[in-house]
Amino acid sequence: MEHESCIFCKIVKGEIPSKKVYEDESVYAFHDINPVAPVHILIIPKKHIFGIQELEERDECLVGHMFYVAKKIAQEQGLAPDESLNGGYRLVFNVGKDAGQSVFHLHLHLIGGRAMGWPPG
Ligand code: C5P
Repeated sequence: MEHESCIFCKIVKGEIPSKKVYEDESVYAFHDINPVAPVHILIIPKKHIFGIQELEERDECLVGHMFYVAKKIAQEQGLAPDESLNGGYRLVFNVGKDAGQSVFHLHLHLIGGRAMGWPPG
């Protein structure tokens, strides 16, 4: 179910343009408009979910699928770690404003192409 005012629902429907990376019946992936790394892709469910904070048990498989899609995209983008575990990428859900969530439609960040620090800021 979509939310009329939701920017990511509009992206899924093609009402707002996006640079699509992948799509299937339940998820959509596109390049982040404001990348924080050489590769920054968002994987989102097509149906409107507010965020992890409102995730329901029936969405468990959907979230698992989002991670699998993220892994496949990371491989295609050449980000998968090699046998020595060099390379790699980060998968992030920001949950709530203190964590940096600014769009309240569930999205998994796939970030890579540079070395990253820990802990995150
Ligand atoms: O985790 P957070 O909610 O902050 O992430 C939202 C992300 O959505 C941001 O990285 C922002 O750049 C991205 N965005 C986008 N296209 C839009 C609006 C936001 O890629 N039209």
